[in-house]
Amino acid sequence: MDENRKKEIRIKACSFREKCKISRYGIIDLFKDCERLGYKLLRYPLSEESDLGFTIKKDNDMVIFTNTSSRLARELFTLAHEIGHSTLHMDNTASFIDDTITISGRSTDDKEQEANYFAACLLMPADEVDKFLDLEINNFEKDGLSAMDIARIMSEFNVSFETTLNRLENLRKIDLPERIRLDSEKNQTRVGNLLISVGGNSKLNEPSKAISIPYEYIDYVIYNYNQKAIPIETLEKALDYYHLTVEDINDKLVNHSADNDNLDELIGGLED
Ligand SMILES: [Zn+2]
Repeated sequence: MDENRKKEIRIKACSFREKCKISRYGIIDLFKDCERLGYKLLRYPLSEESDLGFTIKKDNDMVIFTNTSSRLARELFTLAHEIGHSTLHMDNTASFIDDTITISGRSTDDKEQEANYFAACLLMPADEVDKFLDLEINNFEKDGLSAMDIARIMSEFNVSFETTLNRLENLRKIDLPERIRLDSEKNQTRVGNLLISVGGNSKLNEPSKAISIPYEYIDYVIYNYNQKAIPIETLEKALDYYHLTVEDINDKLVNHSADNDNLDELIGGLED
């Protein structure tokens, strides 16, 4: 990626970030911002081995899926990466599917590297990282960073331990020996404990397993059932994703089995 392209990506990440709600340094809730900006978000716990996320353009909708079986910090990075694809790459391509290779930065594909760069700039802009190190970390210039400092940065920017180290290294805030020292602390249990010890958000280190499907999808399924385009079994299966049963949405359904009864009632009514 040459410097001009990097700058273009920083400009796009920055203008997306301006539409987000920011706490002191980090984005508060990127899921909510995406929904507010009209993205159709699907979140579902597929399994740890499955893909991490995808972006597709469907008619006029930008649909982003993230797997909630991955740790929340990682899911948020996946979301930022998918926003990168939707912002940078949707002119010629209709979809992107991402796994641990494309998201970890091990892919040599230009578009994957660009989406990762976009995600890093969106979640941890250089000037905000600078400001945090200057105002929130004691004696950063003299003593460098401890693992607890990394946990503080994670909590503020809602990123993983690994993303924090990557970003700090790319911004030349830490060098390779420091990275190796901090990396040796990256034991998942310890990261969770570190987050708790700094009063941070320990949920970042766990999968949320959240299920969130845009309400349009359930309305679409109900519409198809009411039009007799799908059987009750398919409706039940779709409702199951929302942890709903047919009884829960009974008032929205056309009662097909009662079609004949209605006719009887009508005839009965005429006879009275
Ligand atoms: Zn990707």
